[in-house]
Amino acid sequence: MSKVLIRDKRNLILRVFSLLIAGFLVTSFVSYYASKMSIRGAIIEQELPLTSDTIYSEIQKDLIRPIFISSMMGSDTFLRDWVLNGESDISRITKYLKEVEQRYGAFTSFFVSERTKKYYHAAGILKYVRESEPRDVWYFRVRNMAEPYEINVDPDLAHKDTMTIFINYRVLDYKGRFIGATGIGLTVDAVRKLMEEYQKRYQRDVYFVEKSGKIALFANRSGQPAENIRSIEGLGAQADVILKQGAGSYQYESGGKSHLLNVRLIPELKWYLFVEKIEDQALVGIQNALYLNIAICICISAIVLFLTSLTINRYQVSLEEMAATDSLTGLYNRHVFDALMPQAISEAKRSKKSLITMLIDIDHFKTINDSFGHITGDQVIKDIASLIRKNLRASDIVFRWGGEEYLVILKDCPISDAQAIAEKLRASVEEIALPLDNPSAKSTLSIGIAALRSDDSPDDMIVRADAALYTAKNRGRNCVCNDSVI
Ligand code: GH3
Ligand code: MG
Ligand code: MG
Repeated sequence: MSKVLIRDKRNLILRVFSLLIAGFLVTSFVSYYASKMSIRGAIIEQELPLTSDTIYSEIQKDLIRPIFISSMMGSDTFLRDWVLNGESDISRITKYLKEVEQRYGAFTSFFVSERTKKYYHAAGILKYVRESEPRDVWYFRVRNMAEPYEINVDPDLAHKDTMTIFINYRVLDYKGRFIGATGIGLTVDAVRKLMEEYQKRYQRDVYFVEKSGKIALFANRSGQPAENIRSIEGLGAQADVILKQGAGSYQYESGGKSHLLNVRLIPELKWYLFVEKIEDQALVGIQNALYLNIAICICISAIVLFLTSLTINRYQVSLEEMAATDSLTGLYNRHVFDALMPQAISEAKRSKKSLITMLIDIDHFKTINDSFGHITGDQVIKDIASLIRKNLRASDIVFRWGGEEYLVILKDCPISDAQAIAEKLRASVEEIALPLDNPSAKSTLSIGIAALRSDDSPDDMIVRADAALYTAKNRGRNCVCNDSVI
């Protein structure tokens, strides 16, 4: 195969391969990115806000009853009378607070008196509230506020500092003067459980953040949760923007992963609810599909390349054969002779070995054509070609020289041997009836032989072989002549 053909083939295969791979990859990546965008859209626009809404409505539901109970306590005539009558019998107020706790299943209940600053709860007097004590700031805030109640989240001293949602209700006397604060407290366990469930079921992180950025409440986040969102990698940089803007969708990178975040304000708690999901987890499915697509595309490309290469090789071989051989006999044509002969001559000269050219012509072939037709004539040319091939060695080269003429090159063959080979060939053709199946028919050969001389060119040898053939024809055909007689 020539270098040019090899290069063309390689180029073609390379182009087919690049085209296939490029086409496949573009399709795979476009569909991957389209899916990624739609999954991201679904997470940002539906999943996260839905979780956030559900958690918010759960919280609201949990808060309505306690607010109602606290409001009842705030306007309870027993409570107000007991305060106005000088808070004399502590057992009465503790009994009342215990009753509220038990009846309504509250986590804690309390009353703080404005006059005595005593903090009552179900088990008695817990403490005295003081303005200078940071834990008591809430009371002085409630004392001064305009609204009838507030919801506050604080650790509960009465219950080993459990995180508690307090409903702090203002208590007024019959003239509307502030006489204390009462209400009940709920643990955040219920909310936390809800958050945990969401986290587990939907692989979402749910946590509450105060307006300062401090993380107020989290469901067991994997690893040690940060104290403040400002110290969370990736999120910290956006913390100011998020806390300023409040509700919205955000995205940040942390640990090499992309986090999608939804934020909303829970006005009752003055907390932000953060619901986030790691995008990569949601993309695992389509990422696997992408890898599968790429693997399939490489396999298909390899198969196509293999088949293309095979087909090209097959066509190339047959094209080369078509260019080098004669279609009727399958023998080499004159082009091959022109390419091979100079090489054969220089090789013979260098190695000082003999080289023989033999010209073979079918006698009176015109008569065969005229008598039996061209198709039968073609068959005779073919039959004699295979007879010649059969009678020669593999190293001898046979060409179809013209219509009913053949040329043979015999390498390393003395003229006497060549003479014998030619004679044997002539005799074997004479022996059989050609065209076949025509007992009356008989084809014969005339053969001219020329041996290589020291100053010969390819043409010189042909001319002498032709002259020897001419002599054979003149001697009555069906015979062999060599150039020694010329
Ligand atoms: P001679 O013994 O002198 O060689 O006589 P001849 O008839 O063989 O010689 P001539 O060169 O006059 O005729 C050759 C004929 O061969 C003429 C041509 O029509 C015929 N011929 C040439 N090529 C083909 C071929 O491929 N097929 C067939 N059927 N005939 C061919
Ligand atoms: Mg002829
Ligand atoms: Mg002839």
